[in-house]
Amino acid sequence: MKIAVDLDGVLADASKIWMRLLNEKFDILIDKNDVDQWDFWKKIGISKQSFEDVFDEAWKEWQSIDETETGLQQKIQVIRGFGKTDLVTARNKKTMNDVMKWLEMSKITFDEIVVVDEYYLKGNLDYDIFVDDSPIQITEIANLGKLALVYNQPWNSHISSRDNLIRVRDFTEVIEVINDYKI
Ligand SMILES: [Mg+2]
Repeated sequence: MKIAVDLDGVLADASKIWMRLLNEKFDILIDKNDVDQWDFWKKIGISKQSFEDVFDEAWKEWQSIDETETGLQQKIQVIRGFGKTDLVTARNKKTMNDVMKWLEMSKITFDEIVVVDEYYLKGNLDYDIFVDDSPIQITEIANLGKLALVYNQPWNSHISSRDNLIRVRDFTEVIEVINDYKI
């Protein structure tokens, strides 16, 4: 069994940083509850590229990036007991230095760290189970017949569960689902 775990919105929550940067840069006032759709940049009237730039800039403040939940280091260790578990992140490669420093700080370890381009559909990679928060990635993974675990976030709440697409609120639930799947 091979398991792919996403980084942003699943392990790392940089939202308070990129929201602050967006608010400063574009003179707006948004909080996490306003980010209720994946392409929310349309809602606030900025381009996708502007959002991507702010997002990359947020990672320069890696020391202030939160973990999405407590105990991730231990929970990922448990998942690694089920099979090869990789961090699979689709992003601008120039942020990877900061990502590596954040991972070192958080002490979360993986078998491998895999970086793909921002728009690459991860479902094409050779994994059986994916944990991701992107509605686009999750839908594609499920359509390919793999097990898609959607990590609960306001921007994916419109995605409905079905056979191989399961909503998880935290990694305790991820562990439960993988454990049942294994049997
Ligand atoms: Mg993500």
